[in-house]
Amino acid sequence: MKKDAANKIALSVDVEDWFHDSEFHAGIEGANERVIALKERLPSVNLLERPINDLLDFYDEQNIKATFFIVADLLEDYKQVFKQIVARGHEIGCHDLHHIAYTGIDVKKEEKLFFENIKQAKYLLEDKLNTEVKGFRSPFAYFHYWMVEILLNLGFQYDSSVAVNDLYNKLGDLKQIGLRQPFYWPASENNKKLMELPWPYWSIFKFRLPVGGGPAFRMLGPHIPILGLKQTLQYGDTSFYIHPLDISDEPLPELVMCGKESFWRNKGEKTFLWYKKVIKHFSGNWRTCKEIWQRNKENNIFIKPQ
Ligand SMILES: [Zn+2]
Repeated sequence: MKKDAANKIALSVDVEDWFHDSEFHAGIEGANERVIALKERLPSVNLLERPINDLLDFYDEQNIKATFFIVADLLEDYKQVFKQIVARGHEIGCHDLHHIAYTGIDVKKEEKLFFENIKQAKYLLEDKLNTEVKGFRSPFAYFHYWMVEILLNLGFQYDSSVAVNDLYNKLGDLKQIGLRQPFYWPASENNKKLMELPWPYWSIFKFRLPVGGGPAFRMLGPHIPILGLKQTLQYGDTSFYIHPLDISDEPLPELVMCGKESFWRNKGEKTFLWYKKVIKHFSGNWRTCKEIWQRNKENNIFIKPQ
């Protein structure tokens, strides 16, 4: 076990828009088309530019580099701000083409769509932003073992989607893993191997609370995530993420908000202040996902799911 202070945290931003967060459990059939249709209902809303710029300014001020996992269908609308992300020294990762929920309910169809979408998304991100994409984050943190071979075939080096906890399970049997530090999924036939950078959890009275960021962070505030990150750092490097929409003060379209007000409570300035608190608390510990991957390359922890 490495010493607490020496371990680092992979900092990431999941860049997705309001239309990526709806109807996500409506099934894999026609999923791409549903996202596109939803977007077209309100084509002129620009919610991401300001919070992304706020994050970039804050990172510069703190001398931090992060990984931005981008949903590739945003490239056309936000190309300039995404180019800024690259120009200011941050890493670009892939967060799917349309942010589809690959729930594992219909594996055959999901495998096919996953392969086609991720292939296109990686190509578009690399081509339009003129950068290399090594990392993947699965939408809604659904992760299945069949994704490993596909990601390896598409040239990814690491994934950061595995959120082990006792509040929700989007991993199926992989939840048994329980590991907190980076590990490798087993080598494929041609000896390639994919590293996993799992999300942190806070273990309290045998209950594992997710503290990796996102909706849980908006609900919990900064103190529990700080405790959870501290605890997880005792085991090795870990990770933490945010969405630009989490810190946006602009109201979300009614389409998204109907019935989901409590889910988005604390969105805006309040969450940004909490976020700054967490970042400053672990000042000096932040790295990009790519840097965490490089730091852990020699660790030979392999997980073989049954
Ligand atoms: Zn997402």
